[in-house]
Amino acid sequence: MKLAPFFLLFISTYISAQNNYPQDYFGSPLEIPLILSGNFAELRSNHFHSGLDIKTQQRIGLKVLAAADGFVSRIKIQHYGYGKTLYITHPNGYTTVYAHLSEYSPEIEAYVKKHQYKVESYEIEVFPNTGELLVKKGELVAYSGNSGGSGGPHLHFEIRNKEEHAINPMLFGIDIKDTSKPIITSLYAYPIGDSSTVNKSQTKQKLKLTPLKNGDYMAESVNAFGDIGFAINTFDRQDFGANSNGVYNIQTFINGSQNFEVDFRKFSFDETNRLNRFIDYEHFKTKQERIQKLFSDNNDLSMLKSIKNNGILTIQDSTNLVYKIRVSDYKSNEAWITIPIKGSKATNALNQGKKTTPYFVYTKGTTNLKEGNVSVDIFPDTFYDDYYLDFKVKNDTLFLEKDVVPLKKTFNISYDITNYSDADKSKLYIARLIGAKKYPVYENTKRKGNILTSSIKNLGTFALARDNVKPTITPLNFKDNQWISDFRYLKIKISDAQTDISNFRATINDKWILMEYDYKTKTLTYDFNDAVSNETKNNLKVIVTDNVGNSATFEATFYRK
Ligand SMILES: [Zn+2]
Repeated sequence: MKLAPFFLLFISTYISAQNNYPQDYFGSPLEIPLILSGNFAELRSNHFHSGLDIKTQQRIGLKVLAAADGFVSRIKIQHYGYGKTLYITHPNGYTTVYAHLSEYSPEIEAYVKKHQYKVESYEIEVFPNTGELLVKKGELVAYSGNSGGSGGPHLHFEIRNKEEHAINPMLFGIDIKDTSKPIITSLYAYPIGDSSTVNKSQTKQKLKLTPLKNGDYMAESVNAFGDIGFAINTFDRQDFGANSNGVYNIQTFINGSQNFEVDFRKFSFDETNRLNRFIDYEHFKTKQERIQKLFSDNNDLSMLKSIKNNGILTIQDSTNLVYKIRVSDYKSNEAWITIPIKGSKATNALNQGKKTTPYFVYTKGTTNLKEGNVSVDIFPDTFYDDYYLDFKVKNDTLFLEKDVVPLKKTFNISYDITNYSDADKSKLYIARLIGAKKYPVYENTKRKGNILTSSIKNLGTFALARDNVKPTITPLNFKDNQWISDFRYLKIKISDAQTDISNFRATINDKWILMEYDYKTKTLTYDFNDAVSNETKNNLKVIVTDNVGNSATFEATFYRK
């Protein structure tokens, strides 16, 4: 009988040896069965998803538990993004992250509020000391919610290593049942070299996919010549959940020998925007379909593993080969695509000339473009390849192509506003013009004297816009001069028509009060349990400022006893 524990120890050591991550160290952060609305590294807008999105049965307020012993190392509250977030660092060096929370456990909530009242801000970021907020595995640390940029109640759960890289939490033994194969919805072939062709064409070709009874796929036979590559649209579903989530691994094979792998186990936040190069970005921007390229074109994303020639196939006249793609989920369910490829040199390959413009962006250098009062500064390594940029300025409108070319970094746009009237100067901002109606959308604009500058993520059309309109402030659950003795909350709606809310400040009898801001419902909420005032007659004052500095003030009197 004494052998049993040794035997179990042997088994668990064996399992963990397969991926080097501690197994069973982290427990579930929720008390309900885990069903995912999103999984690790699935493709999102400009980034890979860095954790698991766990469904909370359409509810907020479920208990969130510490996944292991540790200490609260960081608390961050922001209007957007992760909303209310908790970071717990564990003795083994990993940090678990819990986001979109509704509130913290009473002890942590008291710590947070104390800090918020001290710095007089709803948005905070604090790094408690190691011994300050200790937690035990399974201890209540927070309640699940829908705060920040969350599109519905869920818990975002992440595991990071010491280097702050996000790691697939499933690798730590978090178990989600999954018995079905990934689904592949489309397949494309790309001619890559100047003289390459696919089915006699020099542009990417959508290939017909026939699903087989066993869940695999047969592709139409391809005639090709020169360097070519492939891309697929694929997703995976876990049992008990209808969500289309990401896959775990993709490998490609030429006549049985592997040439490329996409390994969705771990990535760093520095590289997460390489997603835009991994997918066919122009295809996504024009067709809203994310197709994943199974070859690397100057993409340093660490999840791409080139085994041979960056995943690119070189097809000759005499080539006759079978190319296979294997897509697998975390539970090793695999879907295969078989693609027969025949070499055939197109007799009249077009050899399309590449677009040229006078504005060559040498990716290793700095590029400064200037016309009229507009300048554009592009720093080294912003583009993936050397690039001929289309740059046009007409009055105040700057045309920098369409947003179909992925960028690694931001670039700067500056406007000199010396020639505007003083009244205008303070109301101007840099806007991205969106859609056929050229609707102006605020780009974070910095002012230095008469120069406005924005740091820009994507190409597009930009202009100066003017915001003369103050935010609006409307009480939601009370009126001026009302008795509200039995109210738990004060609720106010705030909004801004053009540049959006930049900040707000609320006081009762001139004392700062914490109002939590939910941008999705445009609601500010004060909790009377904060007990800022014991007076019967109270003056509430709320000042709301938009991004160019227009501000509105709301005042009301209320009575309590
Ligand atoms: Zn998430």
